[in-house]
Formats: sequence, structure tokens, C-alpha cells
Amino acid sequence: MNPEMSPSTEARLVGMHCTSCGAMAYPFQAVCPICMAEDAVAETDMPTTGTVYAFSTVHAAPKKWRLPYTVGYVDLPNGVRVFSHLDPEGLSVGAAVYASTGIVSGEAAEEPRSQLVFKAVREAK
Ligand SMILES: [Zn+2]
Repeated sequence: MNPEMSPSTEARLVGMHCTSCGAMAYPFQAVCPICMAEDAVAETDMPTTGTVYAFSTVHAAPKKWRLPYTVGYVDLPNGVRVFSHLDPEGLSVGAAVYASTGIVSGEAAEEPRSQLVFKAVREAK
């Protein structure tokens, strides 16, 4: 694990499920992005593991961010694609990852911000 990303805890992903058309999305949205239903959406837990679809490293950003940082898309097993920060340690396209948290803000931020960070699953040896 990249020590710069600590503290690390397991994360819970609260997404949306539309009971009208069956669509799911993350993060939660009050209006279904597929059928526009407003009265048929409910919170639902998303899977907390997935595979990396694509990622990139960001080297230029406002001072409130800790540079460089990695962002990308993670495909969850229920078909939902999540845009998130990623821990670069052991990362590759197609890698198995799990939802965790990490500090992504830089020194210029008023206080450290912990948010969703997907991390590569380590294989037991
Ligand atoms: Zn819908």
C-alpha cells in the first residue's frame, strides 16, 4: 500500500436503483438517469470490488490536491462504472480492486480530506 494514501478503511458505496426501469448508478441520484423517474429511485449498496477499466495520472491541479494523483473508471460486477481516485500501487487495466478510502488533499487544503479510493487487490503468496 502507498503510505501517502493512508488512513485506509473499507468503504461502503451507496448507489441508486430505479424500481421503474431497473437502472443502477453510483453515486446516488434523486432522478433516474435512464427513465427520469423521480418517485421510483431508492438507495442501494453497490458492490465494493471491481476491475479497472481505465486510469490516468494527474500532474497539474489546484494546490488543494496532493500531486500526482491517479483517477480512473472501475467496472463493478453489477454493470455500474464508477469514476474515482485510485491508489497507483499495483494498478493496471483489468486489475481487481476494492473500495477503500484515502487522503487526496494537499497541504493547501484547510484540513485533510478522506474520500473514496480504489486499491488493487493483493494476491496471497
Ligand atoms: Zn429508471
